[in-house]
Parts: sequence; C-alpha cells; structure tokens
Amino acid sequence: MGTSQKRKLWIDGQWIQTETYSLLRSPYTGDVIAELPVATEKQTDQAIEAAYQARGKMAKMPAHQRSAILYELARLLKERANEAAEIIALEAAKPLTTAKAEVARTIETYRFAAEEAKRIHGESLPLDAAPGGEGRLAYTTREPIGVIGAITPFNFPMNLVAHKVGPAIAAGNTVVLKPASQTPLSAFFIAHLLEEAGLPSGALNVITGSGRVVGDRIVTDDRVAMITFTGSPAVGIGIRNKAGLKRVTLELGSNSALIVDRGVDLEKIIPRCVSGAFSFQGQVCISLQRVYVHEEIYDQFVEKFVAETKKLVIGDPLDPKTELSALITPGDVQRCLNWIEEAKQGGAVVAAGGTAEGNVLLPTVLLKADAALSVSCQEVFAPIVLINKVSSAQEAIDLVNDSRFGLQAGIYTENVHLALTAAEQLHVGGVLINDIPTFRVDHMPYGGVKESGVGREGLKYAVEEMTELKLVIWNRN
Ligand code: NAP
Repeated sequence: MGTSQKRKLWIDGQWIQTETYSLLRSPYTGDVIAELPVATEKQTDQAIEAAYQARGKMAKMPAHQRSAILYELARLLKERANEAAEIIALEAAKPLTTAKAEVARTIETYRFAAEEAKRIHGESLPLDAAPGGEGRLAYTTREPIGVIGAITPFNFPMNLVAHKVGPAIAAGNTVVLKPASQTPLSAFFIAHLLEEAGLPSGALNVITGSGRVVGDRIVTDDRVAMITFTGSPAVGIGIRNKAGLKRVTLELGSNSALIVDRGVDLEKIIPRCVSGAFSFQGQVCISLQRVYVHEEIYDQFVEKFVAETKKLVIGDPLDPKTELSALITPGDVQRCLNWIEEAKQGGAVVAAGGTAEGNVLLPTVLLKADAALSVSCQEVFAPIVLINKVSSAQEAIDLVNDSRFGLQAGIYTENVHLALTAAEQLHVGGVLINDIPTFRVDHMPYGGVKESGVGREGLKYAVEEMTELKLVIWNRN
C-alpha cells in the first residue's frame, strides 16, 4: 500500500482500474505522489448499484456484528496509525504531529460508531393521550435509510470520512464515498482496512474523479437515499439544490469568532488562541478567524498574540517539529494575498505575516479590519486572523452575529451573566464559554446554522440523520 503507484477504484469489493488517471501531487513539494483513477459515469453507476444491492444484507446484519466490524477497524487503524498519519501528511501537507492527532481522533470516531451501533432504538408512545387512541400499542423503530452518498473535503481526510462511514455502517446503511481529489489516499487506506475487518462487498465503495462529474452523479441518482456532504458552502448549496427529496446534511464553512472580555488571564489563553487560528494553516472549518477584544486589554492581547505567532515553526509537513506548512493549492495562496492586499487598501494593519514563501502563507495577523472586507466576511480557510477592538461585550456579540455563517463561537469571560447572555444570543451551532471556537470532540453534536449548513454530525446525531423513523401501531380493540 505504498503511495507512488497507480491507485484503483473500490467497487463491490473489487479494486478496479480505469482508462484515465490523474496525477496527485504533494501540496508542499509539488512532487507526484500517486496516480489517481478518474471514474467514468459508468463506474460511478456501478458503485451506486453495488451499494444499492448490498443494502439488504447490511440492513439485516445484527447490531453486534456491525459494531464488531467497526471495533475491528479501529483496532487495525491503531496498529497502523503511523502509516496512516504519513499518508495524511503527504497528501494534505498536514504537519505530521497534527496528522497523528487526526488518526487518533479517527480511531475514537470509529469506536464511538461501534458503540452507537448497539443503541439504535425507538420509543413506545401513549396513543391514548388522544381521544380515539385507546386500545392501541404504538412504538417507533429506526430503520437504515439505504444508500448514502458521502462527499468529503481535504482538510480532515480521514476523520471526516469516519464521520460519514462510521455512523452509516453503525446504522446498517451502505455507502458510495467520493473523497476530495487532493486527499483520496487516506480513504483508500480505510477501504482496505474495512475489507480486512469483514465489511461485506458493496457496503462501502470508494470512487475518485472530478467532484462535478462523479459528485453530480451521486447527488442526482434515485437509488441514493441521502447525501452527507462536508465542504465549501458554494458546493454544498449547489448539492442541496440538485438533491430533490433526498435527505441532505451539509457541514459547511464559517468565519468563526471569539470574544475576549476584560479581566481574563491572557497568559493562559494566548497559546490556545494562536493554535486555534493557525492549526493546519487555518484550513479548519472552525478555525479562529475573527477576534473581538475589549478595549481595556486590546493592546496587551495583540502584543502577546503576535509574539506567540512569531514562535511558530514553519516547514516540511513530514518534519515532526513543523507547526505550519503549505496551503492546499498555489491558487489559495494567491487568493489570500489578494485578500490581504484588499484589507490593507481598506485600512487594516498587518501586525504579522502578510506575505508568502512558496506555497506557505506566513501566519498573518490583521488589526482594524473592517467587517465588509473579504478577510472578515468570507471564510479565509488560511492562516489569517483579525483582531479588532470593541468597547462592550454586546458590541462584540453583534459583530460575531453579523455573518452569513454560524458554526461555533467562543467567549472568554469571568462574568457569568455575560457568559449566559452570549450563550443565548450567539447565533451559531455551538457556543464555547471560556474556550476558542476551534474545539471538537467526535461524539458531540456538531454543525451550523445559516450558510454553515444543515443537520448535525457526532455519532449519535449522525445516526439519527442516517435512519428513518417508522411508526408501528397495533390495534387491540
Ligand atoms: P470543496 O471544494 O467544497 O470540496 C468538498 C468535496 O466536494 C470534494 O470531494 C469535492 O471534490 C466535491 N465537489 C466539488 N464540486 C462538486 C459538485 N459540483 N458536486 C458534488 N461534489 C463536488 O471543499 P474543500 O476545499 O475540499 O474543503 C474545504 C471546505 O470544507 C471549507 O469551506 C470548510 O469550512 C469545509 N469544512 C466544513 C466542515 C464542517 O464540519 N462544517 C469540516 C471540514 C471542512 P473535488 O475535490 O474532486 O473537487
């Protein structure tokens, strides 16, 4: 399972060649690291058909067996964790230490899925609460939804696949997975391990090719009952528009914000804020992008934040000391430089970074950035953070909410009343009191409001999305 040879599609328990291949390059060195199969429409159709045919077998598989397969996958992945981390580091330019953390989380995600497989159940209902409902026994069950089309992004290539494949198998569904074109190697790796773990043929199919061709086919095919998508808002909204009556969950982007109230211990929070802004080059959907700091501590905050930023070790993702490396494409570097230029023209001050070295955008801190600038109102998805001064917490809450997005937001405060107000008023999927928004453990409900998406992941919540509620009524009259 090296990384330099021709890869194959995984359809119906077979590794399949294609006629056309594309070159996969390392984002950091530009070197070719693999040749990727470009699936044709016909092969995409075969993958969907395989998943469609396998759905009966998966639906009948007992819960303990589905759970055992997922536990075995977690065990195999743990055994080969270093290899898995190297694959992620290579294909995504994710610093190795961060890639290892992703593998550890992926193992957790599959374990949570294994546990969740055992507790999928409905409830009994008191129908006699309504006149005319007497003499009836009623209960609900949760049935697998069927074929799930899973489309995943490049930034957590292994764990975000786990957030789809894990709950899908836990609930007895089958999957057609289209990983991001830049990061399919980790998805193929998981397919190998799931085969070894005993997943039946056809229950997972992995196909690569252009999002537009392969993705579109999956989204519009009638045999696919649900689309679970993680990626950019533009693509997600397009998918929702095409998916008709399919169930659709969308985990999209954001321009996550943090409020820092007066009186907080800056020494304690600065390292965490810097890591929230720059982990994996800011290519994290809850990356810290906007910080609103109370005027009483603003200058101190900026000084300490910039000093901590300058300590970041920049370099080769495969070097264990590296903390920040290349952006995913040269186009993203150029986009960021344009946005920084726009910010400067608009009166923002560059307190750190602002330039690029090759494909590495230096960690960039902007001050006094206006809310209308791209770096503020769009998702930057890069190592750029802006720090603005506010004169009250309410002003900060309003600024956080002045966004098309709403995934997670954080507030540091010693004031319990303010914390409660923020929890109530912040219009996001998750509020973090005394933490940055860049926090996720894998069983918590995770998802956004507004253009950050619809539906929730986190194993229990994803299983709910991936099952159909059925009502059964026995008439005893
Ligand atoms: P992306 O460009 O939207 O791509 C995501 C996936 O969609 C890829 O597999 C892509 O395939 C595919 N795709 C592209 N066009 C498609 C189409 N027309 N129909 C169907 N599928 C299509 O996103 P990305 O750049 O990989 O990831 C970054 C984005 O993901 C950011 O916006 C980030 O915030 C978001 N994200 C959200 C969460 C969350 O949980 N909320 C987590 C992580 C990331 P190709 O690669 O072949 O183009």
